[in-house]
Amino acid sequence: MLGEILETRVMVKSGMKVDKDDKTLQQLLNNRQLALKLIANVTYGYTSASFSGRMPCSEIADSIVQTGRETLEKAIALIHSVERWGAEVVYGDTDSRFVYLKGRTKDEAFKIGDEIAKQVTDMNPRPVKLKFEKVYHPCVLLAKKRYVGFKYESPTQQEPEFDAKGIETVRRDGTPAEQKIEEKALKLLFRTADLGAVKSYFQAQCRKVMQGRVSVQDFCFAKEVKLGTYADKGPPPPGALIATRRMLRDPRTEPQYGERVPYVVIAGAPGARLWERCVEPERLIDDPHAELDAEYYISKNLIPPLERIFNLVGANVRQWYDEMPKVQRIRMLSAAKDGENGGKGRKTMESYMGSSLCLVCRAKLPPVQNQHAKQATAQLPLCGSCRYERTARTLLALRGKLRTAEKKVKDLQDICRSCANLASDEELRCDSRDCPVMYARVKANTAAAVTRAGVGSVVEQLEEEVGARRVFEW
Ligand code: SF4
Ligand SMILES: [Zn+2]
Ligand SMILES: [Zn+2]
Repeated sequence: MLGEILETRVMVKSGMKVDKDDKTLQQLLNNRQLALKLIANVTYGYTSASFSGRMPCSEIADSIVQTGRETLEKAIALIHSVERWGAEVVYGDTDSRFVYLKGRTKDEAFKIGDEIAKQVTDMNPRPVKLKFEKVYHPCVLLAKKRYVGFKYESPTQQEPEFDAKGIETVRRDGTPAEQKIEEKALKLLFRTADLGAVKSYFQAQCRKVMQGRVSVQDFCFAKEVKLGTYADKGPPPPGALIATRRMLRDPRTEPQYGERVPYVVIAGAPGARLWERCVEPERLIDDPHAELDAEYYISKNLIPPLERIFNLVGANVRQWYDEMPKVQRIRMLSAAKDGENGGKGRKTMESYMGSSLCLVCRAKLPPVQNQHAKQATAQLPLCGSCRYERTARTLLALRGKLRTAEKKVKDLQDICRSCANLASDEELRCDSRDCPVMYARVKANTAAAVTRAGVGSVVEQLEEEVGARRVFEW
C-alpha cells in the first residue's frame, strides 16, 4: 500500500514539471503531492501512538525510525568515502542532507549531486530513493531548519531563485519591513558578495525610518491573539490589549481565536512603557502627535534578524547603526496644533525659527534671540540675502513649496476618487487599513497642513514686508 502511495506521489511530482506556467494546476498538483506525502508520513504517527491511537504497533514505528537513521548514516558514510567528490555533509534533518562541495562550480555541483543521488539510491532497496533536489549557490545555513540561499533547480537555470526556510522573511509574526529589508539585504550579499553594499543599503533604510519616510503598513506587527489564554499577572501582549480596549467600545469587535490583530509602536514620552506605546495603526492617522518609534523599530525589530545572519559573515550590524548620524525630527506638527497664545501662525513660525536653517537655501542661521523677538523686524527662518536681496525669488520658491504640497494631496485624492468612484465634490471617507494609498493620503494631508501653516505664514509676512518696502520707495 505504501509503495503505491509513494509511487503516485512521484508521478504527481513529475507531472508538475511539465506544465510550469499554469499556476492553478501547479498549486493543485503540489497540494496533491503534499497530501500523499502526509498519508505516507502518518504511518509512523498511527503506529507509534500507543496510548491514544487506534492502531498502535510500536515495532513498526521503531523500525521506521531505526531504518531511517541507518539509511541516512549509510548515505553520509558513502558520500564521505568517495574521494573524487570531495564532499562534506554539513547539515541534515530527518530526510534531507546538505552537502558542501568546496570550491566547485555550479555545473560541477549538479554533476556530483546527480552521481551521489544515484549511488545512494542504488545502495538501498527499493523504494528508498535519494533525490537530488537543488544547488544553493551561495547559501547561509543558520540553524536547524533555517537557511537561505540562491536556489538552482537545473543546470540550465540562469537566474537563481531566492529561497528562504524558517527565517524572518517567511515568518509572519514580524513586520513586513523587517522581512523586506532582510530579503533585500541577503540578495545584495549573494549578488555582490560585498558587505559594504549591504551596509549602505541598511543605513539608507535606517535613515528612511528615522526621517519617517516609510509606509505605516510596513511597520504593523500582527501577532495572533488568543483571548482568554493569557496569565493574569503582567500585561498581556499588545495585540490582546488592543483587542480588549476595542471590545470595551464595541463588543462585536472581539477577534476570532487566533486572529492577527495589527499594532504599531509609537514614540512616547520618555519613560513610557512599551505596552503603553503599542497602539492601533489608526492612531497614527487620527492623532497627529503620534509617530512611529524609529529607535525601537531599528534596534528591536530590524537589527536582530539581520544580526543573526550577518554576524556569521563577520559584520556588526548594530555598529553600522551606531555609526550613523541620528536624525532628530523637528516636531513641527505639535507646534502647529497648540498655538493658543499669540495666534496659530506665529507659534508655527517660531517653531520654524527654532530650526536653524534658511528655509530656502538651507544656509545656517544665527541662533534665535528670544528676548529680541519684539524687534521691528520679525524673525523669519530666512537668511539675510534670501530675505532682503532675492525677495522675489524667495517668494517664488516658497510658493512653489506650498503648491507642491497641495498638488500631492490632490493627486492622491484623485487616485481615491477614481478608486471609490466619487464625484470631485464628495468627501473621501475611505480608511482602508490595507491600502497604501490611504496612509500616503493622510500623511500628505498633514504635511500640507503643516506647510500651509508654516511656509504660508512666512509668505504672508514676506509679502507684507515687500509691500511696506514699496511704500517707502514710492
Ligand atoms: S484609500 Fe485606497 S482603497 Fe481607499 S479610496 Fe483611496 S485608493 Fe481606494
Ligand atoms: Zn536663505
Ligand atoms: Zn540664502
